[in-house]
This record gives sequence, structure tokens and C-alpha cells, in this order.
Amino acid sequence: MKVTILGCSAAPGVPCICRGWGDCNPNNPKNFRTRCSALVSDGDTDILIDTSPEFRLQAINNKIEKIDAIVFTHTHNDHTAGVDDIRGFNRRSQKPMQTYGIKSFCEEMKKRFSYIFNDTLSKYHPSVSINEITEYQEFNINNINILPLKLHGHMCDLVGYIFNNKIAYLTDFMEIDKEDLDRLKNIDLLIMGCLNQKGSHFQAPFNKVLEYIDYINPKQAIITHMASEMDYDWVNDNSPNNVTPAHDGMIIEVE
Ligand SMILES: [Zn+2]
Repeated sequence: MKVTILGCSAAPGVPCICRGWGDCNPNNPKNFRTRCSALVSDGDTDILIDTSPEFRLQAINNKIEKIDAIVFTHTHNDHTAGVDDIRGFNRRSQKPMQTYGIKSFCEEMKKRFSYIFNDTLSKYHPSVSINEITEYQEFNINNINILPLKLHGHMCDLVGYIFNNKIAYLTDFMEIDKEDLDRLKNIDLLIMGCLNQKGSHFQAPFNKVLEYIDYINPKQAIITHMASEMDYDWVNDNSPNNVTPAHDGMIIEVE
């Protein structure tokens, strides 16, 4: 299995409007971050996690030619605004794009993007089939098994995902349930969002994310969804050996 980090920024991007590079070294290309998204691949199956506002550029930069399905974590624009750009994939596959989200996500997206949720292909708008999923009910996309986990503390309903019991993708959370931390123990690859050192009312601070990682004890952990306070080298220098900051275009292989 393989994960490609398409974007690893928090909502404003790095650099961001008005604040620029913040604490990030502008001379390190790894600090240039588009909004948060990733592609999970296993054999011929490619699953996109979220559609960031830079989805078009991410697809072009990473030469993504096919997506079998999209799983969404939550409705916020930094995770959904690029959904219109799946139209190119409709043209190629001549099929509606299969997408997956929890009930409240589906309801909100049908309001915000009412023109895309149809099973009829059109030259003029994207075509998306939305599949409602439920926390803790596994589902399969081809050969990839997916378990949605409920995450807490954000401003809207939020899920993370475990893929084939090997890769976990959890971002934008403030809290994770103890049962889920136990479920994640010793996972091969843990990808966790961390806004910055202080966190916010809705997202866990750096030290809390490191505590979660320490408890879970994955073979490898990647930090994503980083704001402009999170310089690549600073995060690297202040993390244990099995924890690495993400950068756009990063590829992580899992056996
Ligand atoms: Zn976000």
C-alpha cells in the first residue's frame, strides 16, 4: 500500500494571505503547503481523502490519472472546496464519482453543491454519487477495507479512517476516544493532523498529538494539516524518531 500526501496545510495554506510564511523557513520547499488531502493506493485501487481547494493542482502535480472513490472527513471548505474539479475524472471514466461521507456530511454537501449530486453525466457539471456511511461500520472499495472513526472537538461532525488495518488518517480533531486509541495501537502508518504548537479551540496542540502518537506507538507517524507556525525542520527536530512532518508530494510505502 502507498499513501501520497497531496497537501499538508491547515486551512489558510502556507504561505498564507497576509501572514505569509509565519515561522516557516521560506527557503525550504517542504514548507510550501497546499490544503490537506491524501491519496491511498493499493494495487489498482486509488482512494482520495478529501478534495482540497487546490485539488486540481494536486492532481496535476502528482500525475493522478484515476480515482476510484473519494472518502470525506468533514464539510469544511479546506477539505471539500475542490470537489467541482472531479469533472475531469468523470470525463475520463464516463461514470459518476463514488464518494463516501457520514449522514450530516451528505446532507450539508447536497445543499452546498446541489448541482453535482446526480447520476447523469453532463459536459457542464461534475457527476457525484454520494454514499452514506456510519461511524464504526466497515465498508470496502475494491480491495481496500475502510473503518470510519468518530473524532471529537471540531466545529462539525468529523471522522477519521483506517485503511486495511494498516494506515490511519486522522485530522482536525481535538479529542480521540480511548477505545479508538487502543484500536490504533501499533498500526503501521499513522497520519495525524496538528495545527500548531498551541492548537485552537477545535484542534489539539502539538504536545497532545505527540502524546497520542506515543500511546498508539505506530511503526511510523506523519504530521499533516500544519499551519504557518509549524516549520518543517522545527517539527522534525522536536518529534521522536518515528514521527516525521509531511510535505506536499511525500510518498509513504507500507508493506
Ligand atoms: Zn481542516
